[in-house]
Amino acid sequence: MKAENVDILIIGAGPSGSVAAGYLQKQGAKIKVVEKQKFPRIVVGESLIPRVMDHFYEAGLFEALDSYGFEKKPGARFIRGKEICIFDFSNKFGEGWDWTWQIPRADFDKAMTDELQRKGVDIAFETEVTNVEFYGTDSVTTIKDKNGKVSQIHAKFVIDCSGYGRVLPRILKLESPSKLDPHSAIFTHVKDINRPDGVEGTQISFDIIETEVWLWVIPFSNGNTSIGIVGPTDYIDKLSATGNPEEAIKNAIKLSDFYVKRFDKLPFEFDPIHLKNYSVAVSQFYGEGYALTGNSTEFLDPVFSSGVCFATESGILAAKLALKQINGEDVNWEKEYTEYMKYGIDVFTTYVKEWYTGNLQELFYHQPENPDVKRKICAVLAGYVWNKENTFVAKHHNIIKNMAYMIRETKKDSN
Ligand code: FAD
Repeated sequence: MKAENVDILIIGAGPSGSVAAGYLQKQGAKIKVVEKQKFPRIVVGESLIPRVMDHFYEAGLFEALDSYGFEKKPGARFIRGKEICIFDFSNKFGEGWDWTWQIPRADFDKAMTDELQRKGVDIAFETEVTNVEFYGTDSVTTIKDKNGKVSQIHAKFVIDCSGYGRVLPRILKLESPSKLDPHSAIFTHVKDINRPDGVEGTQISFDIIETEVWLWVIPFSNGNTSIGIVGPTDYIDKLSATGNPEEAIKNAIKLSDFYVKRFDKLPFEFDPIHLKNYSVAVSQFYGEGYALTGNSTEFLDPVFSSGVCFATESGILAAKLALKQINGEDVNWEKEYTEYMKYGIDVFTTYVKEWYTGNLQELFYHQPENPDVKRKICAVLAGYVWNKENTFVAKHHNIIKNMAYMIRETKKDSN
């Protein structure tokens, strides 16, 4: 079989693959993207964080995306009964974007790939990667299109952006268990006909039902709103006696005093999707001739909307390093890729863990607010998790735990 030749093959056209492709196209590399599905397709991951804007910019996608009028996200609100904690990205520690978007991913990913194709990127949709064989850094990838036609691609480097497809982790047996407790989610969209006017109608909110259980509400500029319930897997399983996701999410909406009126009677735009035990991990992030990015590496948890940001951070970085390598420059993948990505993942892992222990929630709702603490946590939630001048980054392992302890002790003293 005669193989097509490219410098860099990208598997998957989600956010990670799209920014990698955008960056490499700008640099003039010979690339190809292979995407299993037909776009638009439904996918979760609708609340972005400001750091992603840097990546869309670098990939040459920002201007096109900005023209679609996606809902702007200036911050996020966390509701716990009568207590409200709002983060405003313009009031954060350090440099960085003050806003981002909240987006129906079907439209957003289609917008990205339309722009890439307009720029001449070769994207093979409805084409699945079925195998990859490595010969040193070179590889031969087998693909199958929607008509069942099988062909091969010869590449000098492969960037695996296949998300939960986890193409290379499966083929090369790199999958490993997540260090996080098993959590699951169910989500769908509604036509938000009861949406209030003003900020209340458009604000992204997370309603805490119990310490480990929360409901997301993500309003879009097209009038629809995404609703999702997240919690420990056994809790989510028990939301419906028959295991029916529709019944489960209806029951979840009833648990939200804040949102039950707005959403209780609304029909769903598509059958609710159940994502069971969504956290994943891998034993290594790269190998000879390949790098894994986005959900093909680790996915932690949706609570701080970090998934797409890690997908684009790793997508752009892998693209840069791959290009350096095929241009004959030295690349220290361990240091420049794994260690860098793991630092950010480690910071967010602490925040996710401390959210579910309840420690971080102590800090969110502590009154009176400490503006310095809030600005520093806000910078983390905006995705600036490599800024070690921020003590809430540099000392993430202990600072939340210690402050929560002090808050609890102080409450005891004053009782
Ligand atoms: P994807 O977006 O999944 O794209 C991968 C692409 O690869 C897909 O289009 C797929 O069709 C293609 N593919 C797969 N297999 C093959 C194959 N064999 N051949 C060719 N193509 C293939 N993140 C956020 O930032 N904000 C959120 O609010 C958020 N909420 C979430 C809620 C839940 C419950 C979960 C589980 C995740 C959430 N995420 C969120 C995470 C987010 O969904 C992912 O981190 C993000 O989509 C990863 O992007 P990606 O490009 O790595 O993968």
